[in-house]
Amino acid sequence: LMQLFRPLDMLGMVYRTVRQGLIDMAEMFRLIDTEAEVKDAPGAPALVVSRPSITFDNIVFGYENERTILHGLSFEVEAGSSVAIVGPSGAGKSTIARLLFRFYDPASGRILIDGQDIARVTQESLRAQIGIVPQDSVLFNDTIGYNIAYGREGADEETMVAAARAAAILPFIERLPDGFDTEVGERGLKLSGGEKQRVAIARTLVKDPPILVLDEATSALDSRTEQDILRTLKQVSEHRTTLAIAHRLSTIADSDRILVLDQGRLAETGTHAELLRKGELYAEMWARQQAEEAAVE
Ligand code: ATP
Repeated sequence: LMQLFRPLDMLGMVYRTVRQGLIDMAEMFRLIDTEAEVKDAPGAPALVVSRPSITFDNIVFGYENERTILHGLSFEVEAGSSVAIVGPSGAGKSTIARLLFRFYDPASGRILIDGQDIARVTQESLRAQIGIVPQDSVLFNDTIGYNIAYGREGADEETMVAAARAAAILPFIERLPDGFDTEVGERGLKLSGGEKQRVAIARTLVKDPPILVLDEATSALDSRTEQDILRTLKQVSEHRTTLAIAHRLSTIADSDRILVLDQGRLAETGTHAELLRKGELYAEMWARQQAEEAAVE
């Protein structure tokens, strides 16, 4: 009976983790050796990216047949630009990221990266091009060095140090008696939310992907730490194509473009200033959040 329960337990754990956000789902699947729902086409070529644009072309998708979550969604993220997806809870924001990673295939429509249909290339080559920075980062019970180098097999020390520096976690690591060899997690040092996130940013920098997905889970960083992290992320996003999934609008107001999703449809798009001038859904959400933040202060 235990043998029956253990895998279920494991799946439960992974499911809970995955539900919290997009926490390294590809790695999770690989770790527990679960077969993913989607399969590579026989003889599929690798995705080759020179200009990392993203196109959602008329995407229809539902997790179950009866309920459509995305109703013919189309949008484009130009190479090197930053686009934020906002909208009410359940609008389908995280679903967009899951489809971009090809954890599911759409019922119809195509998703293109640099003009190539992601359903026709190998999943491995697709995921190699995309880095996720979740706000609630999960670290492995291993050393800080391992957690950073995990971004890419065979990463050398120099790469690791450079990544830690760019993620603004190097001074912290250098102060630890064992430096990069310090054990973290349950067995070792407990890191704060902000430190964990910086380790995740460093891991992404080691991977050095042309496309970044920033997934803002309902994290509990204090606002100063959050501002610091946002500044770091902004530097990291430069020269990369960035798709940010945001709950709080203050974190994405300076994106090149904002997509406002409502019940699986694009309600409005524009810059922060344009959307405020329009005075519709985004402007309402903005006013509400500003009032809430003022109330908290
Ligand atoms: P939030 O802001 O609350 O995170 P979201 O806009 O990211 O929401 P999604 O997570 O994309 O929303 O979910 C869109 C819809 O799809 C929701 O109604 C949700 O219940 C449903 N959904 C999400 N994941 C699954 C799943 N694995 N199976 C079935 N339905 C799902």
